[in-house]
Amino acid sequence: MYYRKFHDLNISALGLGALRLPMEPGNTGRIDRKEAQRILDLSFTCGINYIDTAYTYQNGDSERFLGEALSGYPRDSYYLATKFYAAANPDIEQVFEEQLKRLRTDYIDFYLFHGMDENFISAYMDKERNYLGYLLKQKEAGRIRYLGFSSHGAPDTLTRFLDWYDGFDMALVQMNYLDWTMLEAAKQYDILTNHGIPVWVMEPLKGGRLSGLNREAAEILKAAAPERSLSSWAFRFLMGLQNVQTVLSGMSSAEQLLDNVRTFEKPDPLSPSEQEVLKRAAGVFLKDLGVPCSGCRYCCPVCPAGLDIPLLIKGYNERRISGETWRIASLGRAAGPEHCLGCGACRKHCPQKIDIPGIMKQSASLLAGKK
Ligand code: SF4
Ligand code: SF4
Repeated sequence: MYYRKFHDLNISALGLGALRLPMEPGNTGRIDRKEAQRILDLSFTCGINYIDTAYTYQNGDSERFLGEALSGYPRDSYYLATKFYAAANPDIEQVFEEQLKRLRTDYIDFYLFHGMDENFISAYMDKERNYLGYLLKQKEAGRIRYLGFSSHGAPDTLTRFLDWYDGFDMALVQMNYLDWTMLEAAKQYDILTNHGIPVWVMEPLKGGRLSGLNREAAEILKAAAPERSLSSWAFRFLMGLQNVQTVLSGMSSAEQLLDNVRTFEKPDPLSPSEQEVLKRAAGVFLKDLGVPCSGCRYCCPVCPAGLDIPLLIKGYNERRISGETWRIASLGRAAGPEHCLGCGACRKHCPQKIDIPGIMKQSASLLAGKK
């Protein structure tokens, strides 16, 4: 594992994202303590020292699990990041105190506004609430070491946010070789760099899609480097960006973790010829990509119809790409896309800006055409 300096800290170039920790079998909604502890322990053994969670991850169980699991480790042996999401609970003081309790600590190393974008920028800048004032006070009191934000906003929104306040110590943004152009990640990276704000990366594998690709794209990368995994290409793309501090990966198995750690043994950015190969593979994959859902599930709790939206989108993509319908059909009628009410409640929670009601409508027509 290699490390990058941030002020007086040495932070691992790969961090553990705690959004996708393995869940207990069945529908308990609880993280599988034994399996997740194994992943956390292995992360530490491999040299990872940065863990990222949030108030809302796995309905709060991510923070609760980490509080339990990290109590076995000295507090100064890791850096802990968590976030405040105004849409989940607007009372920042209550949330922050609850987070300290859940995480069993008296300070947070990195505290972030969660999911700053077009829908939530006003909430975070609200004068009455004065969230920033509250957080700066906590920082002064040593209860927060560094202050940042995560962003899914468009470049204009990011600029507006930084025009309001640019004293943030860091920012966490979605960045990978597809979103570099597709979601204007390159522009966001430039804006942050010009403001002197170091970048942490989330979704480096686009919710796992870049570790699978499609057959044609995978063959291009495999032919260029048979010994390298597909994920390693995505990580090495990011290693070439000087202002990237740490890349977070939501690793949910030991195998994934070990593969990623191998890639992060030393800085190894893509050569110019490898960049060309990757560009070619990305072009081929883009044609097949379908709806770019990352599987984050932010949309699910707000859906009045109780739809498993990411599963339905996956089914829709597969239907379009391979003609397969079992995934949707096996849900039974109650959970199918035709039950979407078109209310749009999900839309503003989607970091990928997916037109979910539109997709549900198209998906329902595709299925109806099939019958
Ligand atoms: S638009 Fe459809 S999928 Fe979205 S929240 Fe409403 S019912 Fe659920
Ligand atoms: S539709 Fe959007 S919010 Fe829902 S799981 Fe996919 S990426 Fe996340």
